[in-house]
Amino acid sequence: MWRIVSINSATNEIVGKVVGTTSEQAKTMVEKAHATFQSWKSLTLQKRIELLQDFAKHLEKNADKISKLMTQEMGKPITQSEQEIARALDYLKWNFENAEKCLSPETTFENDKTIHKVFFEPKGVVLCIQPFNFPISQFIWQTIQNLIVGNVVVSKPDINSPLTAKLIREIIDTSKLPKGVLQICIGGAELGQFLVNQNFDMFLFTGSTKTGEYISKIAGEKMIPAHLELGGSSPAIVCADADIATSAERIFANRFRNSGQVCDCIKRVIVHENKFDELVKNLVNEANNQVVGNPMDKETTIGPLVNKQQLEKLIVQVADAVKNGAKIVYGGKQPKNLKGNFYEPTILTNIKKDMKVWQEEVFGPVLPIVTFKTVDEAIKLGNDTIYGLSACIFTSNKETYEKISKEINAGMIALNDKNYGGAFNPFGGVKASGNARVLGKYGFRELCNIKLITFEK
Ligand code: NAD
Repeated sequence: MWRIVSINSATNEIVGKVVGTTSEQAKTMVEKAHATFQSWKSLTLQKRIELLQDFAKHLEKNADKISKLMTQEMGKPITQSEQEIARALDYLKWNFENAEKCLSPETTFENDKTIHKVFFEPKGVVLCIQPFNFPISQFIWQTIQNLIVGNVVVSKPDINSPLTAKLIREIIDTSKLPKGVLQICIGGAELGQFLVNQNFDMFLFTGSTKTGEYISKIAGEKMIPAHLELGGSSPAIVCADADIATSAERIFANRFRNSGQVCDCIKRVIVHENKFDELVKNLVNEANNQVVGNPMDKETTIGPLVNKQQLEKLIVQVADAVKNGAKIVYGGKQPKNLKGNFYEPTILTNIKKDMKVWQEEVFGPVLPIVTFKTVDEAIKLGNDTIYGLSACIFTSNKETYEKISKEINAGMIALNDKNYGGAFNPFGGVKASGNARVLGKYGFRELCNIKLITFEK
């Protein structure tokens, strides 16, 4: 038996201990999942949804407990944890209400003699691996559509929130879901590595690009699909005709939510040179209005980073920028009065393209800003990244928006705010940000084998 120690990221004190899953137990879970697949698959869609609705009901009853634990373990301000569970419940509802429409067979050809139809069938036993930043919503995003289509899931949440994972497992056990349909292994990278080498029909991985590359190789050897939802360095392009006060407010809210630990949040600002001073001034005003501190406090807007390693990585990235000539306009250090993994909201200018804050994904409350002269230059800067998750374009000109949105190489583009989120929309990126889409109709279908059957009339 081994135990995982859960650390409060705001105080570095111990929150509790959880028994970790051993490799023997994980192996048994995978076998049990395979044994359950046929019976789960053969239930009607409506019956599966009915059983999942019971799970959702239990989850809702525990919403307060889940949000408190998430905040304690990974440091997200409590108001944001409450929003996370509320949104996860909304997403469940959308999937229950729309599954049938998304998964109904489609006619591809028809004449007076024959009809050809495409059916969406489950793939089998799916391994779902989640990152640390959204413990409940990532779990729901990865598992719910799988279960609805008839796949069976073995899920491995991130090790930073083991008490949250344990609570979710208890909720599954109290629900009417058949045993073996949705199992949770609790552990870290080693357990993940063990799992990817077991017998699965598909991987659904959300996390860093580095781990995604490894998982993709294993999937290639096994000849199974690996759905990868990876890192990002999304640009905000702020044009000369944008409303700067509103843009600053939205960019700030987007970039600094969850202490900047969001895959698709704005991680680089590219602003027209004539609006640079005004935008920076407004962003600094926003920074001045933040409350950095105890994430359990409802007034807090910026909590700590999830752990020491993430904080240390961020410190190195900022130090590299400063060493190479970046100017700290705001923040740039750990607050002296706070004990945990806190970092001040930080705004950087004088950015050069070889700096880590431009080249790498920055997973913390730091925002680098550069300027452009022409729209073509802005597009080039926006695409100057290995990532391609999303982009936000701030402009009042429809044609400018159309041009930039077509030429930016990313999975999701939004106008004047990050407004593409929703259970109905496909979520995912291109380039090093991944190869798949979760959520909505496209999310459902990517989890299925597409079977064509021809019929005589
Ligand atoms: P990570 O890659 O370190 O870990 C993610 C998960 O993979 C964890 O559960 C971890 O235990 C597991 N893991 C680590 N090494 C493994 C291995 N060798 N084999 C199998 N499993 C292994 O990522 P993280 O730091 O937890 O998450 C942050 C990253 O996730 C950021 O890059 C962020 O952009 C990305 N992310 C992407 C999305 C998206 O939808 N595109 C969403 C959220 C987070």
